Amino acid sequence: KLYNQVQDLKGNIRVYCRVRPFLPGQPNGLNAVGHIDEGNITIIAPSKYSKEGRKSFTFNKVFGPSASQEEVFLDTQPLIRSVLDGYNVCIFAYGQTGSGKTYTMSGPNELTEEGLGVNYRALGDLFLLSEQRKDIISYDISVQMLEIYNEQVRDLLVTDGLNKRLEIRNSSQNGINVPEANLVPVSSTSDVINLMNLGQKNRAVGATAMNDRSSRSHSCLTVHVQGRDLTSGSILRGCMHLVDLAGSERVDKSEVTGDRLKEAQHINKSLSALGDVISSLAQKNSHVPYRNSKLTQLLQDSLGGQAKTLMFVHISPEPDAVGETISTLKFAERVS
Ligand code: ADP
Ligand code: MG
Repeated sequence: KLYNQVQDLKGNIRVYCRVRPFLPGQPNGLNAVGHIDEGNITIIAPSKYSKEGRKSFTFNKVFGPSASQEEVFLDTQPLIRSVLDGYNVCIFAYGQTGSGKTYTMSGPNELTEEGLGVNYRALGDLFLLSEQRKDIISYDISVQMLEIYNEQVRDLLVTDGLNKRLEIRNSSQNGINVPEANLVPVSSTSDVINLMNLGQKNRAVGATAMNDRSSRSHSCLTVHVQGRDLTSGSILRGCMHLVDLAGSERVDKSEVTGDRLKEAQHINKSLSALGDVISSLAQKNSHVPYRNSKLTQLLQDSLGGQAKTLMFVHISPEPDAVGETISTLKFAERVS
């Protein structure tokens, strides 16, 4: 018999806000973040954005600049554990470039034990829990890592450097899937670190310092879990998508042309398609517009229905980022 460790999640969509600390060497006299408590955040905003000079937002949880990776993970853990009970889960990192998305999902550039992000901790936790349950259920865990760039899906776990464009399929047997992408069995955190390093390396292909592709593509680490009940033989399947989204900053259309403009348009389109899907789920609309972007098509099975969604919205504390901060928090309010 399966035991469900999921606490009451009060609905299937949660939104957490995380504020990045000032970076070393940054002057930190002025702060755009006024007040933070459990679920509220107040932004100090110029009159252009607010007559009162401040704007408050409410979320399921707000993590201030001193929140550790461990603290952030603790509030994510119940959701992650539900994958082993056969739930589908999506965790997103949203925010402008430089606001801390990759830090939350993966960690700082120089990885340390305490710096490990949600991706590593999530898989570590799944390994631990599946080990604890091994006399009752036998689990197989495998991962895929995909990139969506300019509405094209690519496999990040290729070893031959070939990075061809893949199709998203929908089959009655497997649901939504990308059959041509490598699906790699994993059983330890070091397996995961090696794969993530490979994925990171492939993602950097074609990028230069001026042209950091990682901020303009979505990366999606998908964890497939299959459990076999050792007594009844019944099979359960769960799936978790850990998505580091492209930077949400508005690009001034009068300033960019060519490839940059095309990228910006693709990003806008897919982030607003994601917002539309989640907000129509939050409002329990009967029509959910999954077809409007590759991202929402790919995640369709894991958004809505019994599936659980967690959106981390990231903001930067600097006053000159306040315009982006407010539009990020408005996006987040719309989906919660
Ligand atoms: P994004 O992925 O949104 O572009 P990053 O995760 O790369 O942003 O973060 C930008 C910089 O800020 C990086 O140097 C990162 O290590 C640092 N950073 C982000 N969030 C935190 C945090 N919570 N604590 C410490 N440093 C952080
Ligand atoms: Mg990043």
